[in-house]
Amino acid sequence: MAANEKFTILLSCTQCKNKNYYFNRCKKKDFKLELNKFCKACGKKTPHKEGKAN
Ligand SMILES: [Zn+2]
Repeated sequence: MAANEKFTILLSCTQCKNKNYYFNRCKKKDFKLELNKFCKACGKKTPHKEGKAN
């Protein structure tokens, strides 16, 4: 059993699709993250959505 299985997700800018942030997360949580984060490509804060890293 892989109870502690973790996987990497990334947050990509919804405007330019740049993949700006990624981190590890437990598989249990199945909600989608959506955060306002600074995007270097856009030069401002934009909504970032969760996506799979691989
Ligand atoms: Zn952007």
